[in-house]
Amino acid sequence: MYNIVFIGPPGGGKGTQADMVCKDLNIPHISTGEIFRAMMKEGKSELADLVRSYVSKGELVPDEVVVDVLFDRISKDDCQNGYLLDGFPRSLNQAEVLDAKLKNSPLTHVILIDVDEELLFKRLTGRRTAVKSGKIYNIYFNPPKVEGKCDVSGEDLIIRDDDKPETVTNRMKVYKDQTMAAVEYYRAKKVLRVVRGEKNIDVVFAELKEVLKS
Ligand code: ADP
Ligand code: ADP
Repeated sequence: MYNIVFIGPPGGGKGTQADMVCKDLNIPHISTGEIFRAMMKEGKSELADLVRSYVSKGELVPDEVVVDVLFDRISKDDCQNGYLLDGFPRSLNQAEVLDAKLKNSPLTHVILIDVDEELLFKRLTGRRTAVKSGKIYNIYFNPPKVEGKCDVSGEDLIIRDDDKPETVTNRMKVYKDQTMAAVEYYRAKKVLRVVRGEKNIDVVFAELKEVLKS
C-alpha cells in the first residue's frame, strides 16, 4: 500500500515525477493545483472565483477550502488502495490536519523533491503544459518534439497564468514562508525522505523508485 506525499518547491518536478510514479504503481495522482485549475476553467461559481483570486497571485488557497477539496477526493473508491498527493500539504496546518484525518491509514512515504533556487525560475518560466493529456514540458530542459505541441495528444501547449515571472517570485516566497514549515514538521517526525531534483528526469525517477522500495 502506498500513501505518498510529494512536497517541494514550485518547479521542483513533483508533477512530472508524480505522473511517472503513479503509472508505475498504478495509483491515482492527486494534484490540488490540477483540481483548482479544472475548477477555474469550468467557470463562474463563487468557489472558482475565490480560488482564482489566490492562485493568480501565487498565494495559497485558504486551508478550509483546500482541505475540503482534498478529503473529498481521497474518499473516492479509486483511492482506497493508495494514492500520491502532489502539492498537498503546503502548510504546517495542512500537514497536521492530514495526519489527524489519516489516523487509520497513515502516509507511507513523504518525499521532498528539492531543487536549488536558482534553477527554479527557469524551470517555471520555461514550463509548458498540455491541458488535456496532463503532460508537462519545458522549453529549455524537456522540449516537445514539435514546438508548441504535445507529443502525446498533439494539442497546443499553454503557459500557465501563474508561471508569469511576477507570480513565480511570490510562489517561491510562499514556499519558504509557509510550505517549509510542513517540510520541517515531517523532518522532526523523522519520516522525511529527500531526493535531489536537479538531475535529469530519468535519474530522479530511478532515485524515487529506490526510496519507494523501503
Ligand atoms: P512542480 O510540479 O514541482 O511544480 P513540474 O513537474 O511541473 O514541477 O516541473 C517544472 C518544470 O521543470 C517543467 O517545465 C518540467 O518539464 C521541468 N522539469 C521537471 N523535472 C525536471 C528535471 N529533472 N530536469 C529538468 N527539468 C525538469
Ligand atoms: P506547482 O506544482 O508549480 O507548485 P501547483 O499546481 O501544485 O503548482 O499549484 C498551483 C497553485 O494552486 C498554488 O500556487 C496555490 O495557489 C494553489 N494550491 C495548490 N495546492 C495547494 C494547497 N495544498 N494549499 C493551498 N493552495 C494550493
